[in-house]
Amino acid sequence: MLVYRTFGELKTFLSKQVEEGRSIGFVPTMGALHSGHISLVKKSIDYSDITVCSIFVNPTQFNVSSDLEKYPRTEKSDLKLLKENNCDVVFVPAVEEVYPKKYVYQHVDLEGIDLVMEGKHRPGHFNGVVQVVGRFFEEINPTYAFFGEKDFQQLAVISKMVQNRKLNVKIVSCEIIREDGGLAMSSRNIRLSPEGRKKASFISRQLSWANHHFGKMNAEEVVHSIKNEFSKIPEFELEYVEIANSVTLQPIQTMLEPARIFLAVELEGVRLIDNCAIN
Ligand code: AMP
Repeated sequence: MLVYRTFGELKTFLSKQVEEGRSIGFVPTMGALHSGHISLVKKSIDYSDITVCSIFVNPTQFNVSSDLEKYPRTEKSDLKLLKENNCDVVFVPAVEEVYPKKYVYQHVDLEGIDLVMEGKHRPGHFNGVVQVVGRFFEEINPTYAFFGEKDFQQLAVISKMVQNRKLNVKIVSCEIIREDGGLAMSSRNIRLSPEGRKKASFISRQLSWANHHFGKMNAEEVVHSIKNEFSKIPEFELEYVEIANSVTLQPIQTMLEPARIFLAVELEGVRLIDNCAIN
């Protein structure tokens, strides 16, 4: 497994691969890797000739500096896990490599997808995501790029960016990988206590409940009931729960639209997000 830290080295390697007719699969991550990330790497290996995984904790997508400082960094074990899972190339750039002084951010119209839910609660977050992924796409020019439905809104934002900038990369979505109790795997879960992890399985149970009751109940009733359930457990601080159209991410107007339920909640000072399709 090759490890590169500059775009120059990575591009020299990749251009040779492309010249020889190989396709490039790209898996962007912020490290502290778990089985969710590895499922993306495995899908990339299935789809592509060469798989590149990046590890970069992107400062521009954190709207709270303490969250950036507390973000887990486990490069050594990440590299070991990627090697065991047959990743071809790992790209681990420094902040100055990704954002040189001359770098100018190119604004992209995301048609409102970036203004609801995560966008509303984490102002500037999606600008940072679009900035870093756009930068990686420009330099790496992958054939495929793999994103998890765990961050469903991010997946929608990236797809919109690719469409509006007319980029030549195929976005592949990957299903959410969960722990045994149902908690969606996340690098942030490391910061939960063992009791917290058990308690957090309540989140996915609420999403399953919504899946079973949506239809018999309307969106407003389902949301109201879930808010009520969370309010009974003081350890949870619910940020939002919304049922939205899974393409536009705007609140659904009719039961005929493809719908998903999304929520963000804080537990033991750790912000957790989850979502699932509900029709
Ligand atoms: P992150 O390191 O949190 O930025 O995540 C990197 C990529 O892994 C993103 O596309 C995430 O959506 C994806 N990912 C993270 N957790 C999971 C999970 N539990 N299941 C599937 N994909 C995931």
